[in-house]
Amino acid sequence: MDSLDKLINEFSHLPAVGKKTAQRYAYFLLTLSENEVKEFASSMVEAKQKIHYCKICANFTDKEICDICAKPNKAPIICVERA
Ligand SMILES: [Zn+2]
Repeated sequence: MDSLDKLINEFSHLPAVGKKTAQRYAYFLLTLSENEVKEFASSMVEAKQKIHYCKICANFTDKEICDICAKPNKAPIICVERA
């Protein structure tokens, strides 16, 4: 598998992304500078390393408890992820 095929294959694993869209994403990526691509890639790795579920509400956060749950004297609240 060459580099382009591998890249297209990786994009095709994203939700709601078919082969044609995966190709478009791959071709778009190739128009970016190397620094832009590195920034994009490192954002994905950093998010995967740092983001997890809040221990109270299960919202995504990069802290132990999310900002909403960490607010003092807060009223009871349910965090809902928007699509
Ligand atoms: Zn929370």
